[in-house]
Amino acid sequence: MSTLMQAVRMTDFGGPEVMQLSQVPVPVPGPGDILMRVAACGIDRKDLLVRNGTIRKKSVGYRAAANDARTGIDLPLTLGAEIAGTIVAVGSAVHGFKVGDRVASLPRRGHCGVCLYCHTGRSESCASAWFIGQDADGGYADYVLVGPDGLCHVPDGVDLVEASLAAACIGPMIRAVRDVAQVRIGETVLITGASGGLGVHGVQLAKGAGARVIAVASSAAKAERLRALGADEVIVVTRGHDFSEQVLALTGGRGVDVGIDIVGAAALPFVLRSMALYGRVIIVGETGSGKIDLRPAIVLLRRLQILASYAPGVTHMVAALQLLERGQIRAIIDSRRPLEEAVQAHHLMESGGDVFGRIVLVPSHDA
Ligand SMILES: [Zn+2]
Repeated sequence: MSTLMQAVRMTDFGGPEVMQLSQVPVPVPGPGDILMRVAACGIDRKDLLVRNGTIRKKSVGYRAAANDARTGIDLPLTLGAEIAGTIVAVGSAVHGFKVGDRVASLPRRGHCGVCLYCHTGRSESCASAWFIGQDADGGYADYVLVGPDGLCHVPDGVDLVEASLAAACIGPMIRAVRDVAQVRIGETVLITGASGGLGVHGVQLAKGAGARVIAVASSAAKAERLRALGADEVIVVTRGHDFSEQVLALTGGRGVDVGIDIVGAAALPFVLRSMALYGRVIIVGETGSGKIDLRPAIVLLRRLQILASYAPGVTHMVAALQLLERGQIRAIIDSRRPLEEAVQAHHLMESGGDVFGRIVLVPSHDA
């Protein structure tokens, strides 16, 4: 194995052009590390926020776990946290994984394993956990260091590129649809941002759970593809425009039982207006930083529940891989691109370009 690899390094905070493809040393695993040969790394919107400087700090978990007084993100940095690949080396303290294993990783590692949240299956809230591609180098590279606490084996029948979507694209929607919303057969589910990396899987999961699915998307072309994934109705609307009248028209004036909002403040007011009595509003994402006017009377009179569905845990990643193995969900990949196209991909996502599902970087390993 070569001692050098290709990695997309950001050398400053700013536009996509702060990233360059570079030759750097292959990282050497410490006792608790696992070195993974990257098969694929999805591009999350969070990567854009780290790159443009919106997120400039190391996570609290990293600082606590590393007892590290530095707060700023170290540059240069390799982004990327949605990773699957093959293990090529394991640290001396690692158990349960070996060279040659095919694995997928959570975006986090460093879970302590003994806090209240780790002990109760809510390790996403562990104060010691920290982020790959933010606190340490990530997966826009030939190789990346990952940790056993955030890793699971990929079943033989599942393609590693598709497996890279398990943790951060499919996992969050399993939590939202199954655990938080607890969608029941016959209910109506509204999903905003339905053509994005999370939405395309949310549509499939809600349909699979027996719901009638109303998807909100931004173009007619995407609407067609969402119908093919199982959406019963698709409302085409530009971002920031009210779609609640259409939702009410499609539901005989009653509204939806579950509203899953992946967009945030730009869509949430319209989700609230789309809800039936006793509806559950599930907030999965915030793609901006806006705020909304909330009339408590609406929540009260409609008997609404407003719930957060936070980051996925290992259990959601495992469930996602099982669904992929059985063909019960399709991993929706917009495009598979070489590392050389990371800058172009960021431009496309930032400009609100035509993306359906996840853009995935696939290293060529020819460093
Ligand atoms: Zn913990």
